[in-house]
Amino acid sequence: MESDVTKGHFIESIIKEDIKNNKNSGKVVTRFPPEPNGYLHIGHAKSICLNFNMANKFNGKCNLRFDDSNPTKEKQTYIDSIKSTVNWLGFEFGTALFASDYFDRLHDFAVELIKKDKAYVCSLTADNIREYRGTLTQPGKDSPYRERSVAENLSLFTQMKNGEFGEGEHTLRAKIDMKSPNINLRDPIIYRVKKASHPRTGLQWCIYPMYDFTHCLSDALEGITHSLCSLEFEDHRPLYDWTLDQLETPCHPQQIEFARMNINYTILSKRKLQRLVEENHVQGWDDPRLPTLEGMKRRGYTPESIRNFCNIIGVSKKESRIDMGLLESCLRDDLNEKAPRVMGVLRPLKIIIENYPEGRTEELAAKNHPQKKNMGTRNITFSRKIYVEQDDFMENPPRKFFRLGPGREVRLRYAYLITCKDVIKDESGNVKELICTYDPATRGGNAPDGRKVKGTIHWVNANDCIDAEVRLYDRLFKDENPEQDKQDFIENLNPKSLEKIESCKLEKSLSNAEPENVYQFERLGYFCLDSKDRDSKNQVSKDTPVFNRTVTMRDAWAKLYKKR
Ligand code: ATP
Ligand code: MG
Repeated sequence: MESDVTKGHFIESIIKEDIKNNKNSGKVVTRFPPEPNGYLHIGHAKSICLNFNMANKFNGKCNLRFDDSNPTKEKQTYIDSIKSTVNWLGFEFGTALFASDYFDRLHDFAVELIKKDKAYVCSLTADNIREYRGTLTQPGKDSPYRERSVAENLSLFTQMKNGEFGEGEHTLRAKIDMKSPNINLRDPIIYRVKKASHPRTGLQWCIYPMYDFTHCLSDALEGITHSLCSLEFEDHRPLYDWTLDQLETPCHPQQIEFARMNINYTILSKRKLQRLVEENHVQGWDDPRLPTLEGMKRRGYTPESIRNFCNIIGVSKKESRIDMGLLESCLRDDLNEKAPRVMGVLRPLKIIIENYPEGRTEELAAKNHPQKKNMGTRNITFSRKIYVEQDDFMENPPRKFFRLGPGREVRLRYAYLITCKDVIKDESGNVKELICTYDPATRGGNAPDGRKVKGTIHWVNANDCIDAEVRLYDRLFKDENPEQDKQDFIENLNPKSLEKIESCKLEKSLSNAEPENVYQFERLGYFCLDSKDRDSKNQVSKDTPVFNRTVTMRDAWAKLYKKR
């Protein structure tokens, strides 16, 4: 069940009040506006959930609009990935919209501003513009080109549009106030020359509108009522409003800011994630250790768990750092309900059951979920040769070790009680295999004479199990805050964030596993088949499937099983 603790966050209160006052005729239209210059991360999920939830809750609509006005950084692959990720998260956006579809109208708005003497072509160099802009403590100075006539501005802007100038020679600037305490209002650039091909408009344009100009007008053209964005845009709101106030637009959306999501032990910034990928600290954008939604999907995160997490953390104006443990617990709660149970052995120890007939195989019924009858059962096979976890045997076990040791009896999940009779070692003294006996009267796991056997361990049949590589993931960074004390976050990477275990043995049914289907490997955690073999050169063999550990079990399994 998805929690709905968002009830009454401040944005919802504003929207309710607006509906009550029949503002925007009671309509609600929101948008999620990514720039297609990278892949989405879990921080974006917060914005996606907020925008779509508000629209859905109030019978409105939410657009997916690409803020694609910077052609040098944007790519079609990002557009494709973002669309499919939003769908994967469970949201319908109809047709995707693009700011680039409004380039004609944005150009006309720029001309309108010039005609109203609210914009001018400036011929200062980038360095000069910076110098004239002043600082937080010093007012700016007017550009010497500020008083160009409307006619001259119109003609220069046309020349800019026609490609008659090189990059940086001229810019179009809004004429606001060079002495404003808000630097964003010191005659911001609204158009610049960029001789770059755009993923959607190709070479049609050589001038491109800046973000602040594009965003508010795109919102207005789409009839957005509530333009929800993160706090860093708070200082841009006066420019958002100024622009819309000057121009004849269909409406004037209300910008409302909320705090970005931060999570400990990771970083949520496209730019920084890009560095991790480019410097090969991780293996691509969908590396399961990354907080990118593609990485999380590959790791086995479910859309429901991410939506639930976003609901639980809520929406506020106050920045905070959320515990990764909360995200993981949302995931476990969901997987505990849904994930079929199977058995797999990560570090195998061979057992020969000496009194079990050679050549015999029997089928045993195993529950796919301990509580959910409707998830059914499956048949697993049992034979004379099985594998158990190396950790489930100790040569000199303490009294409370309820697993295997010389002379000790243990329950094999869904099978029999077995007793360890002998320990076989290799030349260097390492335990190589165990010789055990089974009690044929204990099929299913209970002794008819009522003797108590506390421990239950998982196992697989050595005759038909599959080989697999399993990848265990730990936090990507060592410190809660990877940039603590202004450290370069790269210094803080956890060298043990990935552990590969190559010769795992999994029950046969897993040969039909599909990526993204998450299983609980009993006692070990949740795992899913990896969807890629991008580093297949490191794999044991091409045919060996790779499973990712999605998340561990709630408690250390030793503790969990002691309680039973
Ligand atoms: P980054 O800083 O990671 O590169 P961004 O803000 O540049 O992210 P955009 O594509 O511009 O990425 O973001 C699209 C929307 O997602 C924006 O409205 C932005 O406010 C929101 N967003 C981005 N990161 C977060 C976050 N960590 N928490 C909440 N919302 C976010
Ligand atoms: Mg941004």
